[in-house]
Amino acid sequence: MSKQSDLLPAEYLVKLAEEFGTPVYIYHAEKIKIQYEKLQTAFQKTDARFFYACKALTNINILKYINSLGCGLDTVSIQEVHLGLKAGFAPNNIIFTPNCVDLEEIIAAKELGVNINIDNISILEQFGNRFGDSYPICIRLNPHIMAGGNYKISTGHVDSKFGISIHQLRHIERIVKSTKLKVTGLHMHTGSEIKDVDVFLRGVEIMFEQAVHFPDLEFIDLGSGFKVAYQAGDPETDINLLGRKLSDAFNKFAATYKRPLQVWFEPGKFLVSQSGYFVVKANVIKQTTATVFVGVNSGFNHLIRPMFYDAFHLIKNISNPKGTERIYTIVGNICETDTFGWDRKLNEVKEGDFLVFYNAGAYGFEMSSNFNSRLKPAEVLVKDGKAQLIRKRDTLEDLLRNQIEL
Ligand SMILES: *Cc1c(COP(=O)(O)O)cnc(C)c1O
Repeated sequence: MSKQSDLLPAEYLVKLAEEFGTPVYIYHAEKIKIQYEKLQTAFQKTDARFFYACKALTNINILKYINSLGCGLDTVSIQEVHLGLKAGFAPNNIIFTPNCVDLEEIIAAKELGVNINIDNISILEQFGNRFGDSYPICIRLNPHIMAGGNYKISTGHVDSKFGISIHQLRHIERIVKSTKLKVTGLHMHTGSEIKDVDVFLRGVEIMFEQAVHFPDLEFIDLGSGFKVAYQAGDPETDINLLGRKLSDAFNKFAATYKRPLQVWFEPGKFLVSQSGYFVVKANVIKQTTATVFVGVNSGFNHLIRPMFYDAFHLIKNISNPKGTERIYTIVGNICETDTFGWDRKLNEVKEGDFLVFYNAGAYGFEMSSNFNSRLKPAEVLVKDGKAQLIRKRDTLEDLLRNQIEL
């Protein structure tokens, strides 16, 4: 969890829920800044650049705010590239790191002038044949380290579809040599949620071993995986320890390399997770033989992480913060089992109370859908002490917008 002092107070969230209605995502801009500054401080001893992995949350106002902090942007689709440019990011401050896209999408990104990261041999060869040394590229490698928390979000394992295996280095070298590709970056992203700094450092050492085979490098991109705490006592990436150890290792390697090298990172969750609050309303309290359910006016159509990744989100009753604690199971209102949390201790919940999910900034709204023909929630940005609507709640017209009635 965030430090108490970084959190928006419960009474304020209640006020916003009353003003903007529920369900609603609320983001606190200054918290994003705090997180960005933590990264800058942790890596101040080396030449580090940060690129916000915007698949976590792409509201244009969030992108503009993050651009205003001086941070770069990591994108995984051509649409995210367009959003980034629209938000004001300079093309060289955007990296395009897609997976399994066709050559056309890569070329579209090239034409927009962004950094391109290629993650398979087939496209590497096609790109090289077509463009040779006229457009520098970065190569995504898979160092095969298991740093992730959940198998679904780990990308470094041997079954993973991400990156080009380091065991294919000779093949990469053959393509680079024969097509004259100019490789200015090497990339790895081993998954989400590094708990063990030393495991991560082992991955980095493997990257250094590969880097000596590429003479034109300008940066090594180490992806992300910075874990944030979702509840008190949760293991969290020790960012200062990682910064210290990694800067030492990186500086040592960079000193042996013939050109100046930057280290790049692509934090998603670390920047925006704790800035987000998802506020819902208790629709019904339902007592069954075994359980007391709180049924809320949302479901996995709005916040899917608990069901998809077994993710834990701290839930609190902000309407009755002093009430007696009781045990509840919090579920959604869609026709599918959508349990947000089993056996949670909440201050006594009455129908109509507002509940908040903490750490809802990353992969919250962004993974929402219109399942059950329900409407996507509104989004609100709190910045400089002011709360403003940054996305209207869906309407029935939105559900029909692209349908063609025959
Ligand atoms: C998703 C992703 C990230 C961000 O991961 P977080 O766990 O949100 O920090 C970074 N880089 C790439 C290539 C990604 O796909």
